[in-house]
Amino acid sequence: MERVLVIGVGFMGGSFALALKNHGFKGSIYGYDINPESIKKAFDLGIIDEGTTNLSDIKNYEPDLIMLSSPVRTFRYIAKGLKDLVDEEVTITDQGSVKGNIVYELERILGNRYVGGHPIAGTEKSGVEHSIPNLYEGKKVILTPTKNTDKEKLKKVESTWRMIGGIVEYMSPELHDHVFGVVSHLPHAVAFALVDTLIRMSTGQVDLFKYPGGGFKDFTRIAKSDPIMWRDIFLENKENLLKAIEGFQNSLNYLKELIKEEKEEELTGYLREVKTKRMEID
Ligand code: NAD
Repeated sequence: MERVLVIGVGFMGGSFALALKNHGFKGSIYGYDINPESIKKAFDLGIIDEGTTNLSDIKNYEPDLIMLSSPVRTFRYIAKGLKDLVDEEVTITDQGSVKGNIVYELERILGNRYVGGHPIAGTEKSGVEHSIPNLYEGKKVILTPTKNTDKEKLKKVESTWRMIGGIVEYMSPELHDHVFGVVSHLPHAVAFALVDTLIRMSTGQVDLFKYPGGGFKDFTRIAKSDPIMWRDIFLENKENLLKAIEGFQNSLNYLKELIKEEKEEELTGYLREVKTKRMEID
């Protein structure tokens, strides 16, 4: 691998580029983004060697690996543009947070050039200036091969992630979206909704936002995430997210009932069980 092109030179695209440089990648890293500011910043920070806001320029870069790193709902459109710009040998993969239908659609557009991926690493910050070179160190990276996936390209994507510290795991695109709908997309939806609750309940005599303590801030840190990115994730994983929201509503209703009925013993049991489970993960 000698020539890598990052499409969407933001936080994740920049982190991927920096991680490669940090792990001894000696080839060239190119960037394409619709926002000229992103390209300029990435170039000034030494994250990319060259960049453009004109997709057809990427022909000149002759990339052998392309990493899609823009919001998930841009992928189809970008893939249609890429289709005739790069040849069959090029490996095209992504860091998108939703797989499911997108994987099959990208396969239809790009043929077996495409391998689906999603690093389970990130922060609430967006923008290339926040890129973190060791973002993927020790983090899971889910690859979602299908029966159409080219084995050589899958190996190449896998070894690239391993090289920058990722721990690769395979899942079907469907299982991926079920799992991350519950463990990632739901908590983000709940965090956004919790802040919204304070907005709605702040009417009248008091501004509730003057009083949040550590608990509220810890819980809602992820509500500082980029709205466009999360709009795309919520809409793209709609079915799984709606099921997860329903599950959450059931749990919240159960808790509400225990409080309303003052079921002291059951409430203690509920809180104990949840605390024990939470302690198991760190
Ligand atoms: P970001 O906002 O920092 O960067 C996105 C970049 O894409 C921006 O520079 C933007 O200008 C560019 N862009 C937008 N539309 C484009 C288009 N049509 N063509 C080319 N470029 C375009 O966002 P991010 O946090 O880097 O997230 C990028 C991707 O990574 C998303 O698909 C997201 O689901 C995935 N992801 C994010 C995280 C995270 O924690 N941030 C974690 C895992 C996966």
